[in-house]
Amino acid sequence: MATNTQSYTIREISAMMQTTGVSLVDEIATIGPLLFDSRRITDAAHGLFFALTGRRNGHRFIGDAYAAGVRNFVISEKLADAELFAGANFIFVTDTLKALQQLAAAHRARFAYPVIGITGSNGKTIVKEWLTQLLASDYKIARSPKSYNSQIGVALSLWQMDATHELAIIEAGVSMSGEMETLHHMIRPDIAVLTAIGPAHDDGFPSREAKIREKLQLFRGAGQAVYSPDDTAGLQMPGSGVHVTWGGEGTVLTVLGHVITAENRCIIRAQYKGTDVAIDIPFTDAAARTNAICCWAVLLAMGYDQGVIKERMATLQPVEMRLEMKKGINNCTIIDDSYSNDLASLAIALDFLKQQQRHPTQTLILSDLPGVTGDEDQVYNNLFKLLQDSSINRLVTVGPVLGNRSGAIAGITHESFPDTGALLAAMPALDFRDETILLKGARRYAFERVSAALTAKVHDTVLAINLSAVAHNLNQYRSLLPKDVKLMAMVKAFSYGSGDFEIASLLQFNGVDYLAVAYADEGVELRKAGILMPIMVMNPRPASFDALLAHQLEPEIYSFSILEELISVLESRNISGHPIHIKVDTGMHRLGFSTSDVAPLARRLESAGEVKVQSVFSHLAAAGDARHDVFSAGQLAALDTFADKLIAALGYPVLRHIANSAAIPRWPQAHLDMVRLGIGLYGVGNTGESHLQLQQTGTLKTVITQLRQVPAGDSVGYGRHGLIKEDSVIATVNIGYADGYDRRFGNGVGYMLVNGRRARTVGDICMDMTMLDLGGINATVGDEVVVFDDIEAQATAIGTIPYELLTGISQRVKRVYYYET
Ligand SMILES: *Cc1c(COP(=O)(O)O)cnc(C)c1O
Repeated sequence: MATNTQSYTIREISAMMQTTGVSLVDEIATIGPLLFDSRRITDAAHGLFFALTGRRNGHRFIGDAYAAGVRNFVISEKLADAELFAGANFIFVTDTLKALQQLAAAHRARFAYPVIGITGSNGKTIVKEWLTQLLASDYKIARSPKSYNSQIGVALSLWQMDATHELAIIEAGVSMSGEMETLHHMIRPDIAVLTAIGPAHDDGFPSREAKIREKLQLFRGAGQAVYSPDDTAGLQMPGSGVHVTWGGEGTVLTVLGHVITAENRCIIRAQYKGTDVAIDIPFTDAAARTNAICCWAVLLAMGYDQGVIKERMATLQPVEMRLEMKKGINNCTIIDDSYSNDLASLAIALDFLKQQQRHPTQTLILSDLPGVTGDEDQVYNNLFKLLQDSSINRLVTVGPVLGNRSGAIAGITHESFPDTGALLAAMPALDFRDETILLKGARRYAFERVSAALTAKVHDTVLAINLSAVAHNLNQYRSLLPKDVKLMAMVKAFSYGSGDFEIASLLQFNGVDYLAVAYADEGVELRKAGILMPIMVMNPRPASFDALLAHQLEPEIYSFSILEELISVLESRNISGHPIHIKVDTGMHRLGFSTSDVAPLARRLESAGEVKVQSVFSHLAAAGDARHDVFSAGQLAALDTFADKLIAALGYPVLRHIANSAAIPRWPQAHLDMVRLGIGLYGVGNTGESHLQLQQTGTLKTVITQLRQVPAGDSVGYGRHGLIKEDSVIATVNIGYADGYDRRFGNGVGYMLVNGRRARTVGDICMDMTMLDLGGINATVGDEVVVFDDIEAQATAIGTIPYELLTGISQRVKRVYYYET
């Protein structure tokens, strides 16, 4: 994925790491990108595949990478089937991650230009991007793509450095003690920067102090150290050169205060070497101010003149940290990443595009790359290589450079326009329809105009789904499972209200083994959206058998009558071996065969070649509640007994499963062959004892449509239930019970967040609207309002559970998806 214009031969590469042996068929093969995910292969012919041994053992994917054309590998395990990889080079090492890091360190050591290393809890990516904005007119910069700051990310970031650059800006993130030493060894920054430190100590560190001490390891040996002493908890900086500190009294850049001068501008005043200095930035929030001050100190450390700094600070641009997916015109899906355009962020966006299987046509609207200096051919060749390896089949470019280089890529149709205006004028003729469109434009091409022209108007009330949080939660649960335990993800009821194919796509991409839906039509929708993985249907109806069979859906069979109906349909169509799942009732008393049914069921299935049992399973009634642990253990034992007998009769392997989200952390002995992860995927239902760090995945948002002063004594809403005791400001927001905002939240029981502060409901909830008492909160019409900030507490307040609130958000509320990068 990371690539540079340096070229090493595989022989040279092997000399840059500690090897235990090499097997080189082609010693002078030149190496381009570093690869470690067989689903994300670029420039296969020159790629070097590292078989990393994390949760997924990369050695298992060597075959896939080879099939994709990769011929260069770094591995640490013996190859059982070496003869399958004719013509491939192998480098053997003891630890593939270490080898990757050694390679990155050796590569970085070849360059004498300055490297800025950035660490901290908050703001690393913003500071890195802002420094790039501030310094881009003086230096050709190599920098970490988005927030690539991990043990792997830093190596890939450094790999981007080459001789055409003049400065590198690298982010370093740590989540455990000991990690910074490795990162420091790779980065060896000339200027080390500490951004703000958050108050909490992350998991992985015994204390906040330990976390800071770890981060400070980046500073060892740096010529300049830029930090605020407020963030270092009084700890000694490890040996480094000149300290350019910022913050309170006694620091080099002493911050005196700030004044907000316009809606989104503020002036920050400070003292530097005895003189009063100031910057004027186009942001007002505290985080932006801190990040700007940090950048200010870095520029001072680099010797910039205060006048130049002030001028550049005035034009700082916001940093877009997410890829937003929107509903477009003519059934298109728009992925809007229209604020930056460089090869690294393009690679990430193309990778995300590859994960979207909704439409067969994948389109990229791309502007010329900004500020290419040096070898333009080389840069554009790398760009075309990226496009060649991507899933796009339609390319629309804006700008003269790409226009002149048109027609370069086989299999991709290319339309070009000299500028954004010309593209907009041609929009009707371009007839975008049923396609996924990635928008990627340098800021000066103002692609937000293209975005506006392509996106359907969104209803003001939306449920914004954070796809990266879903992936994060998935991995949290996976980390509790032994490697051979499979995972079925529950995407019933539109993924607990979170949408459908977008979530399923993500789960499919992330290697989940099974999906489960409630009804056949939910499964059909997923198939239509390109979901190929096995799907279990929990509530098959005989009327839906046609659809079930046409779309390879696997029914849950819970009674003899449904089994017989299915068998007779299969028989009449001459189908054999259709996959089914046997549900056993072990105490939930909902659906399922009784435990006493096992003998007749086994007998029936033995002779029923029409079906093949994939799994036998049950459902725990109270997995999350310690008071019922004895009962749960009984359920588990009952399933085992049932499964033993059934499997013995069938004579072929069948998966067993019983654990839902709550059982995964609490009942390791219930993991069996597979677990069924439901609500936990959506960030809800974390039991205190599990230590899982789940992230909220959905934010239900609406807007203020009107504000009014209501005098004491008046009333608000139907039935005059909202009596106003003192003069108040009442905001009407665009969500009501028809959207899924429960009526029980009325009359002050519920609250929403208006500009970050709680405003209680007044009067009854209406069908499409709700009124809020703003108290002292400042707000204007059009302001965004967050409906649930703590869905578990809010569910409790009206006597229900988060499941009901989530699935109750009506389908008329648009789902918008985004991906944090
Ligand atoms: C919904 C469901 C699950 C998932 O339950 P969560 O509590 O959401 O994890 C598991 N198994 C079955 C049969 C279900 O219906």
